[in-house]
Amino acid sequence: MSPEDHQATFTTLFGEPPEGVATAPGRVNLIGEFTDYNEGFVLPVALDKVCRIFWRSREDTQIRVASLQYPNQIDSFASNTDYAHGPHVWSRYVRGVVAAARAWQHTTRGIDLLIDSQVPEGKGLSSSAALEVSLLGALNATNTWGLSPTDIARLGQLAENDFVGCQCGIMDQLVSATAVAGHALLIDCASLECTPVPLPEAWAIVVLDSNHPRQLVGSEYNQRRLDCEEARDSLGVSSLRHANRKTLTAHRAELSDNAYRRALHVISENERVLTLVDVLKQGSLPLTQVLLAAGQQSLAENFDVTVPATDALVVLAHEALGKRVAARQTGGGFGGAVVCLCDHRDVNTLLQAIDAGYTQRTGLHADIIRCDPGAGLEVSWYD
Ligand code: ADP
Ligand code: MG
Repeated sequence: MSPEDHQATFTTLFGEPPEGVATAPGRVNLIGEFTDYNEGFVLPVALDKVCRIFWRSREDTQIRVASLQYPNQIDSFASNTDYAHGPHVWSRYVRGVVAAARAWQHTTRGIDLLIDSQVPEGKGLSSSAALEVSLLGALNATNTWGLSPTDIARLGQLAENDFVGCQCGIMDQLVSATAVAGHALLIDCASLECTPVPLPEAWAIVVLDSNHPRQLVGSEYNQRRLDCEEARDSLGVSSLRHANRKTLTAHRAELSDNAYRRALHVISENERVLTLVDVLKQGSLPLTQVLLAAGQQSLAENFDVTVPATDALVVLAHEALGKRVAARQTGGGFGGAVVCLCDHRDVNTLLQAIDAGYTQRTGLHADIIRCDPGAGLEVSWYD
């Protein structure tokens, strides 16, 4: 849809044209899985797939919101009411953001909102963070709250944690709010310091969505978080960020098998993130392959979050390109997507191999999402 079409749709829905648009990307995490809520390191890339929110502020306190992904469903609520579920599940994210802002003493003026997102939902590319961050970008602009990009990320996370009910870390919102085009983003989840890391231009990012039905994801995700907290307490550290292999080995007898393996994943994953930052500077795909393969193995053996379908995608990628492709399951686990990095010239070979082998091995169909590294939140007013 062109910008003119969006403006026309907005006007049809709400009677007047939008005043501006806020744009925030989805993301794919290269490495650093389940480290964010352990105050560790992550290395996501913002995508060129974005959520756009068109807005027009109102004189009253009413918030009206529509999404092109959910036609004919408008939610309407007062900005100063306490958080309550609306008539549509998706609008929880909007109500949650408004409620989170209120928890920070920011009550928004009334506003009309139209959402249109290119980020596929529930595929591990964080459509939810793209929505939260773009919405906060719009609210921040119209209300002149003066929120920094980091504040926006923290409020997005608060919305998702306390109002939507997913105990996600801060990675998704932070990369969506602050990414630099052409770069991955090293995030220190303890200090929230963000360091852009250039990605080699010759590399393609290909996301393979396994289409494996994700069940019990929320409860299992939250359980892993509890396992990590158990490990943290047994190790006597303030977060697993401050544990290392030596402390882990020394305390092994006091830890349950689960807690031990979860901690081993987090400790080794933090090492892999920092190593990959150096490897990216050298532009070495073979070394990147080794790191992502080790990450995949740890997700499978220590964190118990892979499924045969995503394992099959990784195996097929390696069968097709050997060390010329780095691949691993990415996102919240239990299916979802596999991220692949390879030379642009190898993409067709990779895709042919997936096409020829994936359905045969799993009975499923993989969706292919080619991405370029995109920029973080942008807010613009129309003239
Ligand atoms: P993801 O991995 O994509 O973030 P989540 O389950 O965390 O998956 O978030 C997906 C949810 O976010 C959707 O089910 C929907 O409620 C909401 N959402 C995402 N994008 C949109 C959109 N464009 N319009 C309305 N709601 C959306
Ligand atoms: Mg999400």
